[in-house]
Order: sequence, then structure tokens, then C-alpha cells
Amino acid sequence: MIVVPESEIAGLIGRDACFEAVEQVFAAMSLGDAYNFPVIREAIGHADALYGFKSGFDRAGLALGLKSGGYWPGNEAKGMTNHQSTIFLFDADSGKVKAIVGGNLLTALRTAAASSVSIKHLAPKRAKVLGMIGAGHQSAFQMRAAVEQRQFERVIGWNFHPEMLVRLEETAGELGLPFQAVDLDQLGAEADVIISITSSFDPILKDAQVTGGTHIACMGTDTKGKQEVEAALIARATVFTDEVAQAISIGECQHAFAAGTKAENEIFEIGSVINGAHQGRRSDDEVTLFDGTGVGLQDLAVASAVVDLAVEKGVALEVVF
Ligand code: NAD
Repeated sequence: MIVVPESEIAGLIGRDACFEAVEQVFAAMSLGDAYNFPVIREAIGHADALYGFKSGFDRAGLALGLKSGGYWPGNEAKGMTNHQSTIFLFDADSGKVKAIVGGNLLTALRTAAASSVSIKHLAPKRAKVLGMIGAGHQSAFQMRAAVEQRQFERVIGWNFHPEMLVRLEETAGELGLPFQAVDLDQLGAEADVIISITSSFDPILKDAQVTGGTHIACMGTDTKGKQEVEAALIARATVFTDEVAQAISIGECQHAFAAGTKAENEIFEIGSVINGAHQGRRSDDEVTLFDGTGVGLQDLAVASAVVDLAVEKGVALEVVF
């Protein structure tokens, strides 16, 4: 069995390889070559934590396994990231455990890769203004991956906790882009691409605030009850997702689906756009929305890539198990 500790991940894999792995697995899911098993996610009644498993099998890439972990909101105050996860890979021919891989950085990279894939395939080509809602741990990863897809000229942002906006300002600075903190009316009116990455349980962005052709990547809602945008915005937008079953149960679409304003067959897999089966954006004026719920196959795809790289670079720890 191979062990790739969390501390090795940053030196092994970067945004490009994660983007490629995630784009490929979304395409495989849409072709029916890869599928996710039902998600388990529970509030465990301790440390305010959400804990669970995401798992799946990619028949094409032979990635079989699971990510176990979750969200501990009090961790940051103790010098740890709020997300804690570990990825386990199994040999698809024998069921023997193949690898254990640190999943914290990989979660941030694969989540940012997912919205970046959506921006590549759905955002208006001439997008210039990136709007960020959320300024937590994931937001910096999201911004860095997003700016690789379009020629953004500036970043605007809003956060429920304004004192956290400094993270967006610093990240934009790193990327050589000016940053301005704005209210949600200005954000919805000016941004060509909006990423929401919060742990909100109430709608933040309202339908009326989004004007003109915009692409919105809703990345924070990954649990029943969470919500980042008004259900009317979901109803109006052309909606894509990583996996429809997750979108309507634990994703941003859950509320519009429950209200009957967005049907299952009106939500399209991003993989179908990657594969060319769906044309994606039809006009510059359209509002497209990606409901990035986060699927286990994303984790397996990036973890498999890391294991290959660790073996190639001779840093994989082999354990007899
Ligand atoms: P974090 O704890 O570092 O930051 C939380 C963010 O949510 C901050 O911007 C905070 O201001 C905001 N927030 C907190 N309470 C809020 C409220 N009541 N209303 C509005 N905003 C509020 O978390 P993070 O690591 O940046 O993760 C953000 C979210 O992304 C989490 O909910 C997490 O579960 C989700 N996530 C999703 C995926 C996916 O694949 N879709 C992957 C990783 C994380």
C-alpha cells in the first residue's frame, strides 16, 4: 500500500493536473463510464462537525475508493483547516487497499478545478470582472483557478464577515488584479463571472441582483439545507452540475427542485458540455449557473494522479498492509 501524506501533496500536484483530472472525470461521468455512490453526510453532534463519505468508481480510469472526512468549523482557531479529509484508493481487480492520500489540499484544488472547468466551458468569452462571494479558506483557491480561464481585469467581492475580505484582496494582489469590496447589488450587476463559496444556510445573492450575461459557480452548497442563491435565480438560469442526483438533494438546486421551479430534466451535466453533447452557453446575455456539489470521483481522480506522481518522483511511502 502507498501512503502519500498531506505534507507531500503541495510538492506533487498543482492546478493544471487537477483541472485535467476533474475535467476528464466529469466527461467520463456523463458518458456513463464513471459513477458516484450515494453520499453519507451527517452532523455528528460533536464539535459542530459534519462528517461523511463520498465514494465512486471510474470504470475507464479504474479509480475505486472513497474520501472520508468533513467540516469542523472550529479548526481554524486551532491552526488547522476546517476541512479534514483522507482519500482511500482500492485496487479495482482485487479490492485490496492501494493507497491512502491526504485529502485536505486536494479538496481545495479539486473544488477550485470544478468551478474553473465550468468557467472554461460556460462563462462569457469576454468576461472581465470576477465577483467573489465568500472569503474563507476555499475562496483563494477558487480565485486562483478562475483567473486562468478568462482575461479578468478586476475582482470584486462580498462576504458575510467583512473582516475576512482581506483574503480576497491579498489573493487578487498576488494575481496582479485590483480588488474592490462591494455590496451584492454592485456585485450582481458588474461581475461577468460570480463564484459563491460560503457555508450559508440562507440565500445570499438574489435573482434581481444578477443583470446581463453572467456565469455563476455555486460551490458552497454541499449539504441538505445550505443555500447561497435565491431559488428564483436557479429557476431562471440555464443550470449545469457535476451530478444531477446530488444537485437536487444536497446541492444548490435542492430548493428550486423542492419548490417545483426547476425540474431534474432541466439540469444538465457539465460533462455533457465537455463531451460536446450539450452546447452550453447559447448567447452572451444568458445566465448560466454551475451547481458544484463536489463528487467523490473528483477526489479519486486527483488522488490517483497524486499517487502516480509520488511513485514517479520516488516519494511514495510503501507500507506492507
Ligand atoms: P470557511 O469556514 O473557511 O469559510 C466559510 C465562509 O462562509 C466564509 O466566507 C464565511 O464568511 C461564510 N459564512 C459563514 N457563515 C455564513 C452565513 N451565515 N451566511 C453567509 N456566509 C457565511 O470555509 P471554506 O473552507 O472556505 O468552505 C466554504 C464552503 O464550501 C463550506 O460550506 C464547505 O462545505 C463548502 N465546500 C464545498 C465543496 C464542494 O465540492 N462543493 C468543497 C469544499 C468546500
